[in-house]
Amino acid sequence: MTNRFFLLILIYLLFSSFAGAQRLPTKEPQQYKKVLLLMGTRFEFAAVTNNEQRAWEAINAGIKETQRIEALISEWQPNSQTSEINQNAGIKPVIIDQELYDLISRCLRISNLTGGAFDISFAAVDKVWHFDGIMKSLPSPQEVAASVSKIGYKKIILDSASHSVFLSEPGMKIGFGAIGKGYAANRARDLMRSMSIPGGVVNAAGDLATWGKQANGESWYVGIADPAEKDQVFSWLTADETAVVTSGNYEKYVEIGGKRYSHIIDPRTGYPVSGLKSITIVCANAELADALATAVSVMGAEEGLRLINQLKGVECLLITDNDELYTSDNLHLHYYKSKPLTVKSTRKEAKSKAQ
Ligand code: ADP
Ligand code: MG
Repeated sequence: MTNRFFLLILIYLLFSSFAGAQRLPTKEPQQYKKVLLLMGTRFEFAAVTNNEQRAWEAINAGIKETQRIEALISEWQPNSQTSEINQNAGIKPVIIDQELYDLISRCLRISNLTGGAFDISFAAVDKVWHFDGIMKSLPSPQEVAASVSKIGYKKIILDSASHSVFLSEPGMKIGFGAIGKGYAANRARDLMRSMSIPGGVVNAAGDLATWGKQANGESWYVGIADPAEKDQVFSWLTADETAVVTSGNYEKYVEIGGKRYSHIIDPRTGYPVSGLKSITIVCANAELADALATAVSVMGAEEGLRLINQLKGVECLLITDNDELYTSDNLHLHYYKSKPLTVKSTRKEAKSKAQ
């Protein structure tokens, strides 16, 4: 289990029993679920219904939908439309499916909203930063400068008449690592819901999209682990019809000279970000939540909180490298302890610091 799964512990797991769900044919709703590897990570699909056959049909449809999206947005499958766009950087526009066109348009809108903190063209630095453990030394400032000059969402040219996208400079590259899981979670949730599944969860490596209720009729809960004692859940939030998405430097990073470099890149500098251990975004839309989690990671606590507090229906919870916890103005956490001992900063303090 990675630290990330400690950070967000899905309490609903405690209430459900996979084996029990299979054994007892009953009219009462049950939770059915399947865990598997998709998009290179752990996905979990849960369906709450009293119709077992329909549950498995919906779960399998959710899985197929995720695989379909992966084939469209993958930058490492050489024949995906995304790879074709990258291969033609600085050469020519590529005509793409409406779905990918719309996804890129939404990405550009989020780049605008976040002042460029979220930028799918960050991927130009893929050539200098490797987060698979092979890097032993830092890239030279010259290498970073050369690749950062290729980043810039304004250089991604969409043409609605021809349905094409053009990366206008050679060496540019786009990647959907910061939004793809959220997009897939949204789509899989919508599909499963449309198949008459009244409640469920799509969990894409800790990025959750929920709908309806648990089998026992209760809301879905997401536990928040104490930053200083990772296996202690000190608070929780209810997660009905919502998405809860976390970005952090727990899972994918590289350690050089004793320092940990996150896989989230500041598009302005080409260097990995630091300062925040984890960023959790709560809002109805898993795709937006996914992208904003990455953006806030780049923006930092102060600027990030300011942005989130301006967005209606979007909340966040941040844990800094010093284990301080900050929340946006309207995040409603329920505490197990009346006052969590290890939380150094309360929302109030965070707000005054952010001003
Ligand atoms: P996780 O994969 O842990 O859920 P994120 O959702 O934050 O974390 O996605 C991180 C991934 O997003 C990186 O691995 C990379 O593919 C991509 N990425 C890194 N920096 C940026 C950025 N500034 N804008 C958009 N995408 C980014
Ligand atoms: Mg993200």
